[in-house]
Amino acid sequence: MAPEIRELDPTTVERIAAGEVVERPASVVKELVENSLDADASRVRVAVESGGTESIRVSDDGIGMDEQSLRRAVEKHTTSKIRNIDDLEGGLATLGFRGEALHAIGAVSRLTITSRPQGGDRGTELLVEGGDVERVRPAGCPEGTTIEVEDLFYNVPARRKYLSQDATEFAHVNSVVTAYALANPDIAFELEHDGRETFATTGQGGLRETVMDVYGREVAQAMIELDDEAVPEGPLESVSGLVSHPETNRASREYLSTYVNGRYVTADAVREAVMEAYETQLASDRYPFAVLFVEIDPSDVDVNVHPRKMDIRFADDERVREQITVAVADALKREGLLRSTAPRG
Ligand code: ADP
Ligand code: MG
Repeated sequence: MAPEIRELDPTTVERIAAGEVVERPASVVKELVENSLDADASRVRVAVESGGTESIRVSDDGIGMDEQSLRRAVEKHTTSKIRNIDDLEGGLATLGFRGEALHAIGAVSRLTITSRPQGGDRGTELLVEGGDVERVRPAGCPEGTTIEVEDLFYNVPARRKYLSQDATEFAHVNSVVTAYALANPDIAFELEHDGRETFATTGQGGLRETVMDVYGREVAQAMIELDDEAVPEGPLESVSGLVSHPETNRASREYLSTYVNGRYVTADAVREAVMEAYETQLASDRYPFAVLFVEIDPSDVDVNVHPRKMDIRFADDERVREQITVAVADALKREGLLRSTAPRG
């Protein structure tokens, strides 16, 4: 007998959809930090407990929300950032656009948002539990927004069970906050785990100073600047940033931070192209530090690959890789580290 095909109930549909956006504490942190940046914050403070599994708090001094916006923000598919699909074509000015993060987070946690618009005379607090708005009330709070996410996946036990140990979850949170701190030297970031400060950036320095705030002096001093002049013609309009002297390396890929048009991505093409430039300078399980920014015509890149938006595809992958490898190889060569052979072929 053929199995009966049933329609899923709305709660199940919601939680499955939420799982696409929210995989673990670090994905919540990513969405909240992006929202703070989109809100023009100059200060972003992230504090998590137990790797983010108990609580995640992100506060900013951005534009804030009034009561009406706050109620809208947690509804399904609501955004202030695009109006329709055409707005995606010209290249986005904001990091967010899907209008699903707050709704998804609210569906699988206890979410409290406290916000006061710039110049507004009062704040509002809104509480969502398992997808339902439980409470909206006036609140005394500074201008800007504070979002607290408690007991992530409390109502999705299967998901909660698959979270890693706190230390591992925190390592992911740390990579995300680090990535955004490095890309925004003019914004003061602070990260705290179980009441202890992990790092803080001043928001006043350049890239190298921010690298120092995040990774320490030794790493900052080992960084070599990329020279945009060395980049061959190709789809990338520019390649810039810092890469480490090969002697300063780690056993993890996580210190390769790459950005496409200001968006933090995990494009394999970019990472592999960086690695290729190091040739034999690194043992096979070692990775350099890199903070690499590339700019490309938005129509030559697809950011819409995955709901979590971390991945990205280039129309002309081969030439993009070539440009990056040459730029990094040039930097290393300038430091007298590579023979003057071409990096590929
Ligand atoms: P998206 O970022 O894709 O628009 P979200 O669900 O992340 O979707 O957020 C929904 C809306 O809530 C945003 O478009 C924005 O208007 C508002 N919002 C979210 N976070 C903040 C914040 N920290 N400060 C001000 N407004 C915010
Ligand atoms: Mg968002």
